[in-house]
Amino acid sequence: MSNVLVINSGSSSLKFAVIDPLTEKFFATGLVENIGGEAHLVVKMEGDKVDEITAVPNHQVALELTVKVLEEKKLLENGLKVVGHRVVHGGEFFSDSVIINSKVKTAIESCNELAPLHNPANLEGIEVAQKLFKGVPQVAVFDTAFHQTLPDYAYMYGLPKELYEKKGVRRYGFHGTSHRFVTLQAAKLLGKTRPEVNLVTAHLGNGSSITAVLNGYSVDTTMGLTPMEGIPMGTRSGTIDPGIFMYLHRQMGWTVSEINEVLNKKSGFLGLSGISNDMRTLSEAAVAGNAQASLTIEVFCWSLAKAIASMAVALPSIDALVFTGGIGENSALIREKTLAHLKILNFEVDSGLNLMHGKKEKGIITKEGSTRAMVIPTNEELLIAQDAMNLVS
Ligand code: AMP
Repeated sequence: MSNVLVINSGSSSLKFAVIDPLTEKFFATGLVENIGGEAHLVVKMEGDKVDEITAVPNHQVALELTVKVLEEKKLLENGLKVVGHRVVHGGEFFSDSVIINSKVKTAIESCNELAPLHNPANLEGIEVAQKLFKGVPQVAVFDTAFHQTLPDYAYMYGLPKELYEKKGVRRYGFHGTSHRFVTLQAAKLLGKTRPEVNLVTAHLGNGSSITAVLNGYSVDTTMGLTPMEGIPMGTRSGTIDPGIFMYLHRQMGWTVSEINEVLNKKSGFLGLSGISNDMRTLSEAAVAGNAQASLTIEVFCWSLAKAIASMAVALPSIDALVFTGGIGENSALIREKTLAHLKILNFEVDSGLNLMHGKKEKGIITKEGSTRAMVIPTNEELLIAQDAMNLVS
């Protein structure tokens, strides 16, 4: 019995995977979307797929439905060794993954205010799984944990210190599981141990963040108190002049929550292009001659290059810049344009290798003699499963 169920419980969705962390085999991956209404359940298995629409009032029913499918397909026959949960915010409580007990749940709950859309949903997933899998240990893996090694001068904002002391206002960083996964992979590919690698890791997806990894550990990152900081993303503005907040309030008459809505949901690629929050769609539109799509891509690559250069400050030298996430893994265009801005760091792309998305030469996409850039596919579910297994073995 070595299977792990990995759960990523969102406010109206439940993502899951059944994995053997030792062989790295994925037996099933799936998603229940639109929990609370007519939900869409998709489960993908080797040579098989379940796809149905059914009423799912809550997370409990979503997980019960999932378990029913997994049981019918005989994927839980040998039982589960452990359940691993993705939890977005661990505040300053967690610098590593942990076995969940009541103290851990209380600590996660106390971070609710820092991630009001995510942590309560993550906790709900934990509660439901504990009810359904009595006696099976549950592990929490935090998005913020990898960044708990940031030094104070990197995580403090230039704000009154009481705001940190009393309300926890500091940089926490996110996508930690992905940054950690590609750090471990990069070390393997480079034939080094984790403490031997100095990297800049760029997780570029619907949300994006860039991290400085010194001797295998995060020492700075672009996301902050919330996942809104950093470079422009699908619908998030990323870092902007904080004066814009007041200016919009005065000029547009918007309330705090209206401004938040614009910065979170209507900005980034979507706001800039006026077409889409999706980089693939924008890339196609740019090729077809859409000037706003082209400008959006230019803004993204420029911001990304500046963020990479700023992260490089934390390192004595760069073993590799790692691209990952949907955009990082698949867009040769974004990688090429970004690297072209980074001559100061001696990056020189190899166009042929770049077009192969790092599938040759151990992920490397740059010319010999230049600073190395690599493409490494992320796999957060696998790392959650491995952490969970390690904690109970
Ligand atoms: P993720 O959040 O990691 O799933 O990444 C989603 C983002 O990756 C979306 O903006 C997609 O459009 C983008 N993406 C996926 N494939 C490609 C591609 N071939 N070219 C450009 N962007 C892509």
